Amino acid sequence: MIKLTVIGCYGAYPDPGGASSGYLLESAETKVLLDCGSGVLSRLQLTMDLSELDGVVFSHYHTDHCADLGCLQYAVMIDTLLGKRNKPLMVWGPGETERLTYGTWCNGQSYLEVPSFEIGALRFSTQENIHEIQSFSLRATDTAGNSLVYSGDTGYYETLADFAAGADCFLCEASFYEGTDTAGKLHLTADQAALLAQKAAVRRLILTHLPHFGDPFQLREQALRHFDREVFLAQKGLEIVLSDPSENL
Ligand SMILES: [Zn+2]
Ligand SMILES: [Zn+2]
Repeated sequence: MIKLTVIGCYGAYPDPGGASSGYLLESAETKVLLDCGSGVLSRLQLTMDLSELDGVVFSHYHTDHCADLGCLQYAVMIDTLLGKRNKPLMVWGPGETERLTYGTWCNGQSYLEVPSFEIGALRFSTQENIHEIQSFSLRATDTAGNSLVYSGDTGYYETLADFAAGADCFLCEASFYEGTDTAGKLHLTADQAALLAQKAAVRRLILTHLPHFGDPFQLREQALRHFDREVFLAQKGLEIVLSDPSENL
C-alpha cells in the first residue's frame, strides 16, 4: 500500500497558505517526501510529525522543489538533539550530495550512479527528463508492487511513457493549458500529460505543478479528452491510497 498526500502542488511559488512542490508517500512504517519546495515544511507538519520522516527524494534543484531543504535540515538536527529522532534523514537527489548532507543528521546520496535505491519499504528508480537543468522522473514501488510515478519538471518526450508504464498513479506536471506554445518552456501542457498517461496505460492521472493563471480546473477537463481513466487535479491535502486488492485478503 502506498498513500500519497499532496503537501503542495503549485509551480514556481506557493499559493496563499499553500506550498510549491511537495508530496508525502507512506508505505508500511516508511514516510518519504518527494521534493521539498517553498511552504512544504510548514504544511507537512499539518499531516505528520517531522521526526517521523525517513527520507526525501529530489527530482531536481529548482527552487520551487527544494527551497525548504535548509530548514528541514535544521528541524532534523533539533529533533535529534531533543531525542525525538534516533536516525539520520536519508536525502537523495541528482548529485550535489554536499548540499543534501547536514552534519551527521542528514545523509545526502546521489542516485546518478545507481539504477535504484531503497528508503524503508519503498524502492525508487529514476529517469532523466528534458528540462532547463538536470531533472528526473521518479518511480516509487512498494513491496506489493503498487507504484507511483512522479514526473518532476519536464518537457515532452516519448520515453517518459515507457518509464511510467502501468503505474497505479501518475503524478504529472501540467504547467500550461492545452494550446500553449511550449517551445523553449520545457514543461508539459495538460493534454501532453494526458497523452503520456494514455500511452503509459496508468491507472490514474493526477495533474500537478499548477499554474498561477487561468482556471486550473480546465486542466482536468482538457486532460479528460485525451485519457480515458481517472483524472484528478492536485490540491493541498489530497490523499490517494494505492493498494492491490489482494493485500486486503
Ligand atoms: Zn518546478
Ligand atoms: Zn524545474
